Amino acid sequence: MGKRQASESLEELIAADSPASKRARVDEAEDSEPVNGNSASNGHLMSPRPEDREKLDILGAAEEEHAELEEAGATPEVALDEDEEESAVAAPQRQQAPVEGYTDLYLDTINRNVLDFDFEKLCSVTLSNINVYACLVCGKYYQGRGPKSQAYFHALEEGHHVYVNMETKKVYVLPEGYEVKSKSLDDIKFVVDPRLTRNEVARLDKEQKTAWDLSGRKYIPGFVGMNNIKANDYFNVIIHALAHVVPLRNFSMLEDISSRPQLAQRFSILVRKIWNPRAFKAHVSPHELLQEIALRSSKRFTLTAQSDPVEFLSWFLNNLHLSLGGSKTKPGSSIIQRVFQGTLKIESQQITARADAGDRLRFEDAAVQTELSRYLILTLDLPPAPLFQDALDKNIIPQVPLTAILSKYDGLRAQERLNTRVRYRLLHPLPPYLLFHIKRFSRNKFVAERNPTIVTFPVRSLDMSPYVEPNPSLYPPGEPIWYDLVANITHEAVRTRDDSVEGEQESKVWRVQLRDRSREEWWEVQDLFVERERAETLFTKESYVQVWERRRGVGGNTNSKGKGKA
Ligand SMILES: [Zn+2]
Repeated sequence: MGKRQASESLEELIAADSPASKRARVDEAEDSEPVNGNSASNGHLMSPRPEDREKLDILGAAEEEHAELEEAGATPEVALDEDEEESAVAAPQRQQAPVEGYTDLYLDTINRNVLDFDFEKLCSVTLSNINVYACLVCGKYYQGRGPKSQAYFHALEEGHHVYVNMETKKVYVLPEGYEVKSKSLDDIKFVVDPRLTRNEVARLDKEQKTAWDLSGRKYIPGFVGMNNIKANDYFNVIIHALAHVVPLRNFSMLEDISSRPQLAQRFSILVRKIWNPRAFKAHVSPHELLQEIALRSSKRFTLTAQSDPVEFLSWFLNNLHLSLGGSKTKPGSSIIQRVFQGTLKIESQQITARADAGDRLRFEDAAVQTELSRYLILTLDLPPAPLFQDALDKNIIPQVPLTAILSKYDGLRAQERLNTRVRYRLLHPLPPYLLFHIKRFSRNKFVAERNPTIVTFPVRSLDMSPYVEPNPSLYPPGEPIWYDLVANITHEAVRTRDDSVEGEQESKVWRVQLRDRSREEWWEVQDLFVERERAETLFTKESYVQVWERRRGVGGNTNSKGKGKA
C-alpha cells in the first residue's frame, strides 16, 4: 500500500467533506431540538446519539491519525517492519478454532452501542476499502486479519479481540485468528446487512410494526430519520420516496444484486436499513451511497452542496437503471423502467407568421408533427404567480388544483414553446407509478425565480383517465384510472440571517411526506425529524415531487378504500 495512493483517496473522500463541518452539523441539530421534546406532535425525534457523534469523529480521527503518520515520515508498513515486529511482540499463536470451552471468550467485550455500519467502510489506517473488518469493541474499521494486518495490530495494541468482516459477515477473534460461530452474534450480522425473508417483506405494509433501538428509542421501520451529514437533504427526500415504491423496495430487499455495481448495491442496502426492524439506532446515515454517487456523478451530487431533488432524481433513476443492467435503448429493461416509465404523444406545429392573433393557439390539420416520447418524470407547469411584495403574507399565495396543471396532458390544450405550438397526451398503458415534478424554479438571465403557488390535491383517488388517449384494446374507455399518493416532497423557503451585504438569504428546506400503509397514516421526515402528518393538510406546503401509485384493477368501485383502513 503506497503512501501516495492513501493520501489521494484521503483528499477525495474526506477533504471536501471535512469532519469539522460534520461535527458542526451535529451540534446544530442538537441546538434545534425543541426544548420539550416532541410533545406538540405525535412524532418521534431522532437526533444523533453521543455514540454517533463519536462515529462522526472517528472519520476525523482517521484523518488525523494518518496525518500524524505522514508527519513522522512513516507509513504503517514502514513503522512496523518484520524485525521490529518480531522483537516488539511475541508472535501470538494462530488458531483454527478456539480452545475447548473458550468459544465465547471475549464476546462480552463487544460494545453494540458504538457499532454503526452506515459509514463507508474504509480502514482507519490505510483508508483502503478492501478486506475491511470492524472492531466490535470500538467500532473502527481495519484492513485484513492476517499477521501484520491492521486489524491484527489493533488487537495487539488495544487488546480489542472481536472483528466482523464487512463482506462475509464472519466474526473472528484476533490475534489468534479463529472464527467464532455463535448465535449471539446474529443481531450484529443482521445490522451489517439486514435481510428479511420473502414472507417478512410481504407483511411490511400489513402489520403495524413498532421497534425500539438499543437505547430504547421507539421507531417505525420504514419511517426513520436520515442523517443530513452536511447538505444532503435533497438526496434524503428522494431516497425516502423511492424506498416507499413497493416494487422497487421489495426488489432491493429480496433480489441478489451482489454482482451489480456499487451504486445499485449501496442503494439496496440503504433501503434495507430504512426498513430494518432490528436496528441498533433509530435512524440511518446515507454516507456510503452518497460517496458512491459523488464519485459516479463526478461530484455533481455531493453531501456538501445542496442540489435540486428533481435533477438528482433524474440522474439517479437513469444511473440506477444502468447499474441494474438496464439497456440504453430497449424499454422495460430494468425495474426502474417497468415501474416508472410511460409513453407520451407530442404533437407540434410551427406558428406561422400568417396566423392572426385570435388563431394562434388553434391547430390546423396541416403540418402537425407527431412523435412518441418515453418519460420517467412528468413535468407540471404552474400558472404564473402574481408578483407580491411580502412573501410572508400567506393570504395572497395562489392555489391551483393538481387536475388543472395536469391538463397540460389532455391532448387538447395547445401550449406555445418558442415558435411552436405543442400538445401532449399520455398513452396507455400508464406506468404503475407516476412521478410528478411541479416546476417551481426557473432561471432567467438575472435571477433564479420561485413560484410559491400551492397545488391542492386529494391523497387518494386521482383519476388519470382524462389525460390518456383512449385505446379500447388496452383499457375500457370511460373508466377512471385511479392513482393514490405514496410520497410528497415539499419545499420551504427559509430566510436565514448571514454576513452577506443583504444580511439575509433564502435557503431551501426539503421534507418528504410518506404514506404508512399499515396504519393509513402519514409521516413527514426532515432529516432526523419524523413527525405524524394529517392527510388533509399535506397539500398546504409547496409540493415539488410527488409519487403516485396506480390502484390495481379496472374501474372505480375500489374508491371506498380511501376512507376505511385498507
Ligand atoms: Zn477496537
